Amino acid sequence: MLSPRKAVRNLPTYHPPLGGRTGLRLDFNENTVGCSPRVLERLRSIGFEELARYPEREPVEAIVAGCLGRKPEELLLANGVDEAIHLLSETYLEPGDEALLVVPTFSMYEIFAAATAARITKIPAGSDFSFPTAEVVRRVTPATRLIAIANPNNPTGSAAPIDDLLRIAESAPDAALLVDEAYFEFHGETLLGRWKERSNIFVARTFSKAYGLAGLRAGLLMGEAHQIKAVRRVASPYNVNSVALACLPEALADAKYVREYVSQVCEGRERLQCELRSLSIPFWPSRANFVLIRMGSLNSAFIGGMRERGILVRDRSRDPGCDGCVRITLGSTEQTDRLLSALRETLQVIGAPREEVHG
Ligand code: PMP
Repeated sequence: MLSPRKAVRNLPTYHPPLGGRTGLRLDFNENTVGCSPRVLERLRSIGFEELARYPEREPVEAIVAGCLGRKPEELLLANGVDEAIHLLSETYLEPGDEALLVVPTFSMYEIFAAATAARITKIPAGSDFSFPTAEVVRRVTPATRLIAIANPNNPTGSAAPIDDLLRIAESAPDAALLVDEAYFEFHGETLLGRWKERSNIFVARTFSKAYGLAGLRAGLLMGEAHQIKAVRRVASPYNVNSVALACLPEALADAKYVREYVSQVCEGRERLQCELRSLSIPFWPSRANFVLIRMGSLNSAFIGGMRERGILVRDRSRDPGCDGCVRITLGSTEQTDRLLSALRETLQVIGAPREEVHG
């Protein structure tokens, strides 16, 4: 009887709870107000000819690379950062090789790495979710071929210092170090200007968060030209569809739109953290467009109470070290107003958890 490979049979399944998402979407770290109007205008202009032809990725890669001050051969457009992770795993991992992850973190690193029959080594983050740089360096072995780090991290919102990432790259010259900057716009710090110091570093970015284009599926992977050339061999020449390719230059051209949205999110993040502090709700200070809070045994009541008030937030209690935790995405200023009043009302009904405050 036909059977999937052993590595595939043993894979954990990832089921994002996308069903029944009615309400304000503060559950998936998406942009909550939509993309630039320039993107919508370009979408409306797409005709049959553009859809009938196979998509041509390279000219758009050149535009995107130009915007980021990189050469086109140092950049690959992908079907979201998800695909970039998949491609890196396919390019660098042999069965039995080792992939190193700091947990809790984004689930797709483990899934794509494990699918190649690589062994996954999980290193717990510090008790306050600080990045365990010394431990990562200590756990590198000759079999380590992939180290994936979300910076800032999902779901904790914490960030690793750039110099620490460089130290890790240096300590593992035979491993691809993926620094996933999906939340870069809300953090402002990047490894991009520094990765030339190490040829094993890759930086990923996405259009799914700040740019409001999660449904288009567009992300990018940057690295040294000869490494990107290898990754490109594994990718379908048509991995990014023509609708996404048409929209990306417009999205990048409207920098003001993204800047204004990001500034509202960052302001909202400060307001939420301030409110959590005054309510004595434990949370971890965040560098991304979300904040992880610990509701403890009130976790389900809190999520339900927020849903009743029209606000979706994400249960993260099954992530390692995240017992009783909920992740709340930030959106526009008006949405933060709604979030804060729903939060206060819900807590009035269910009470507040009694634990040490981290923030
Ligand atoms: N990386 C991280 C750290 C994420 O949190 C997410 C989305 N949840 C992604 C990548 C996925 O990005 P994309 O939509 O570009 O595949």
